[in-house]
Amino acid sequence: MKFIRSLKCAHCSFPFLDGELVLYEQGDLYHKPCLRIMRSNVLIGRSAELRRRSREVVEAARRVFLAHRQNHSTLTKSDARSDRSRFSWG
Ligand SMILES: [Zn+2]
Repeated sequence: MKFIRSLKCAHCSFPFLDGELVLYEQGDLYHKPCLRIMRSNVLIGRSAELRRRSREVVEAARRVFLAHRQNHSTLTKSDARSDRSRFSWG
């Protein structure tokens, strides 16, 4: 048996009217529109977190790419120098 915390909506705190549809979730009661708003807010929060995480992943990939490009550039220059010294006659 679960304990119901209140006979008011957990989102808006207004009481329920006679005959009104009441939804139960995780120990709380909600008006139907209030539960939709609450669930939407949860999704918006998750979406914001995913956007933030996506930016971090893209930034990490950009840093790896730039480091790779820098290493490649350094290796190419040192290869060019060693090629010059190898073929130098003076
Ligand atoms: Zn409500």
